Amino acid sequence: MRTPIIAGNWKLHNNPEQTTAFVEAVKAKLPKNTKVETVIAAPAVDLDALRKAAKGSELHIAAENCYFEDEGAFTGETSPKVLKEMGIDYCIIGHSERRDYFHETDEDINKKAKALFANGVLPIICCGESLEVREANKQNEWVVGQIKKALEGLSSEQVAKLVIAYEPIWAIGTGKTATSDQAEEMCKTIRETIKDLYDETTAENVRIQYGGSVKPANVKELMAKPNIDGGLVGGASLEPDSYLALANYQD
Ligand code: PGA
Repeated sequence: MRTPIIAGNWKLHNNPEQTTAFVEAVKAKLPKNTKVETVIAAPAVDLDALRKAAKGSELHIAAENCYFEDEGAFTGETSPKVLKEMGIDYCIIGHSERRDYFHETDEDINKKAKALFANGVLPIICCGESLEVREANKQNEWVVGQIKKALEGLSSEQVAKLVIAYEPIWAIGTGKTATSDQAEEMCKTIRETIKDLYDETTAENVRIQYGGSVKPANVKELMAKPNIDGGLVGGASLEPDSYLALANYQD
């Protein structure tokens, strides 16, 4: 059985004080880890505050990006090794904003996935098509291509543990959610791809999130789909009440 995983992606929002206040507001009301795993991904400058505030609670912590080298002359980058030393559980890689604005390539994402595993941090690998690709009805081959390149060289044990987030770019921050059927169809395609690349057990274990305008009003319908194991949530993860409504969607 896959444990559902609800992850907030704060993007470039919140400072350390706001981070601490957010965690104080949510930590006593989070579901048990065994029921729904809860994660907040915060900017690198907030991770220390997030870790301290979340200590002893159910909340897992994620970085929003990292580099694929542990150390060296790479001004401005974040070390996966130090993320591990800080007690960070997950790291988002390949978000469409990073692919678009910061020119992150499939090859970079694959290197980052390997660097994270080498350090014991679990990747949340994002994929998803643009409106142009969707309108040309090429979304499946696009996303399957992204997944194949991101996972190249990873073992089945590794793939079973990581998280994939399917986020159609046209649904991010636009208020325009993919229908639950569209989201399910792609998450199913991703699971089938993993079955083809690895095996049935790996495909049954890997958790696949949907992201793109997930909010308290639509989370239940999305989570009811058999191949959707969680949400990666931007805007609706910023307010404690909204995040709690998402995290406790089963109640
Ligand atoms: P959104 O962002 O929920 O604000 O659409 C999702 C994401 O980019 O991860």
